[in-house]
Amino acid sequence: MHTDLVAALDIGGTKIAAALVDGSGALLVRAQRPTPARESAETVMGAVAEVLAELSRSPLWERATAVGIGSAGPVDASAGTVSPVNVPGWRDFPLVERVGEAVGGLPVELVGDGVAMTAAEHWLGAARGYDNALCMVVSTGVGGGLVLGGKLHPGPTGNAGHIGHVSVDLDGDPCPCGSRGCVERIASGPNIARRALEAGWRPGPDGDASAAAVAAAARAGDRIAIASFERAAQALAAGIAATATLVEIDIAVVGGGVAGAGDILFAPLRRALRQYATLSFVQQLTVAPAVMGTDAGLVGAAAAAVRVESGGAVAV
Ligand SMILES: [Zn+2]
Repeated sequence: MHTDLVAALDIGGTKIAAALVDGSGALLVRAQRPTPARESAETVMGAVAEVLAELSRSPLWERATAVGIGSAGPVDASAGTVSPVNVPGWRDFPLVERVGEAVGGLPVELVGDGVAMTAAEHWLGAARGYDNALCMVVSTGVGGGLVLGGKLHPGPTGNAGHIGHVSVDLDGDPCPCGSRGCVERIASGPNIARRALEAGWRPGPDGDASAAAVAAAARAGDRIAIASFERAAQALAAGIAATATLVEIDIAVVGGGVAGAGDILFAPLRRALRQYATLSFVQQLTVAPAVMGTDAGLVGAAAAAVRVESGGAVAV
């Protein structure tokens, strides 16, 4: 019998996805449910159990040797618990233990979703071949993860690389996390849209006031829309430069819906980095768009599981 697959779980505020993943990162069998995010802890766990049950009906299931979970955070990998901000029913929920029970005792590895995305980009994506990388998701929130010395660096609780809550504006707006002037408070999609609206930008006839609509307006030359993306780029650049200066990264990979704005974000981001990443050892820092797309969470969760199972022998 081959035992060459891992089961991956990607748990977010809107969907719970699962897949059987092979050693090349291919997703062989998939299952997915909407996250019953406003329901009780047991109802949410029920949806997780359903996607696992669906996977286990595949004849390939017997080849699975471990389960990797990438979850919306905060997570506590040392305790095996999760407390996703957008799933209020789960507070210190013992996800590792419950998934372990559901899969008959296979080893279970938990990381935060930013760390999972980073594992995927390092294994098969834009950070492949880089020993020191910061990978970020800029979307409804801003998340991230680190690769240091060629290895994924989840940190003791699985949350390392949380660049969205690094403050880049000392007296800036209060952030829901309790701090002020966080990267996320300036650079997330909703905050890009909010800033544009506050400065007088108005959506088109379709009423779309999302960051993607602001990006479209910026592309058409709207000055307020351009300025809102420039401010987001500035915050991201300050956060990336701080990270590079602290731990010497070679590349920053930026993904998520906001990165879909392309040059509207990346051109001012590269300009701003030259302003903030000034010391000789960070001047060569590269910025690249993420390439793993919406499967990054599943591929990365699988990578995290393989990493543990093999004692870190697999270079993910
Ligand atoms: Zn914050």
